[in-house]
Amino acid sequence: MVHNFNSGPSVLPKEVFEQASQAILNFNNTGLSILEIGHRTPLFQGVMDEAVALTKELMQLKEDREVLFLHGGASTQFFQVPMNLLDDKASAAYLDCGTWGTKAIKEAKLFGQVDMVASSKDKNYTYIPKGYSIPETSAYFHYTTNNTIEGTQMHSIPDTKVPLVADMSSDILSRSLDYNRFALIYAGAQKNVGAAGVNLVVLQKDILGKVSRKLPSMMDYRNHIDNGSMLNTPPVFAVYVCMLTLRWLKKQGGVTVIEKKNAAKAALLYDTLDALPMFTPKVAREDRSLMNAVWIMNDEAIEKEFLAECKANNMVGIKGHRSVGGFRASLYNALEMESVVILTDLMKDFARRKG
Ligand SMILES: *Cc1c(COP(=O)(O)O)cnc(C)c1O
Repeated sequence: MVHNFNSGPSVLPKEVFEQASQAILNFNNTGLSILEIGHRTPLFQGVMDEAVALTKELMQLKEDREVLFLHGGASTQFFQVPMNLLDDKASAAYLDCGTWGTKAIKEAKLFGQVDMVASSKDKNYTYIPKGYSIPETSAYFHYTTNNTIEGTQMHSIPDTKVPLVADMSSDILSRSLDYNRFALIYAGAQKNVGAAGVNLVVLQKDILGKVSRKLPSMMDYRNHIDNGSMLNTPPVFAVYVCMLTLRWLKKQGGVTVIEKKNAAKAALLYDTLDALPMFTPKVAREDRSLMNAVWIMNDEAIEKEFLAECKANNMVGIKGHRSVGGFRASLYNALEMESVVILTDLMKDFARRKG
């Protein structure tokens, strides 16, 4: 068994891989592959409807929330959000707490005034800024709930009346959260929800249609709502893999059950890091991410040695992001506790031998 700590695309449940493989050969006993059926057939419509229904159920969404599956990854949402919600009538407030948030800010500036309410760039994004205020007149407030690269996470929802927009690419459906507090949520599927190539977007319809600019059809959320995410050919296979992953999550007991498992995995890893002086977590303790744990070791030669031992023990994806260095272990929903046990056992053993 390979222990997959990749940050994205990342580990998915084994049964999802099996079911997806089967559907490529023979989808629902039709004698056809999922890859060769029309997206407007009842067969695929069933997949889309189930994916939407499962999302609403698992996130406990109110009736007025729309669920979309769109192309382009989270990076497309960096500009689609301001294109639909920001013009010269008001500015948008953004929190700069990591690489992805910085990119979102850059794109938003193309469409209007951006108020950066706080930034943790001064300490290489190793903490979540606190004590900032969000101007009440902002069109919306955008933040990244979990900073995949730096390993920080917002553990509470900011208290504001301004419509909240969140990039939840790397922690959506990993914990119970009042998802109805957000006017718009987006997440690239390839971390916790499914295969790359599709974006999950949850939004409140009444925030739309307020900007003065004309929008290209594919960029206007209203068109996607009116066409049930089938304005053009959707990424059929990627949506199917999402549906299977959501089914799996429901079978596990949903978000409250997976949240406990995720917390236990993170606790074991951070407790081990804290107990062994050789391994040093980089981020502020209260802002540690339960999804992506980041740490360094005291010298480069020993980092290389530890990485080699991880490889030799079938662990992949442990190397830190090139911009941060050190190590990163991603602990997404589908990662089994067993994998964290293997990793932390190796850490303890390594520290005993080399310490
Ligand atoms: C991975 C990631 C992105 C980028 O997603 P793409 O689908 O590759 O565009 C954006 N935001 C966060 C928080 C991410 O983890």
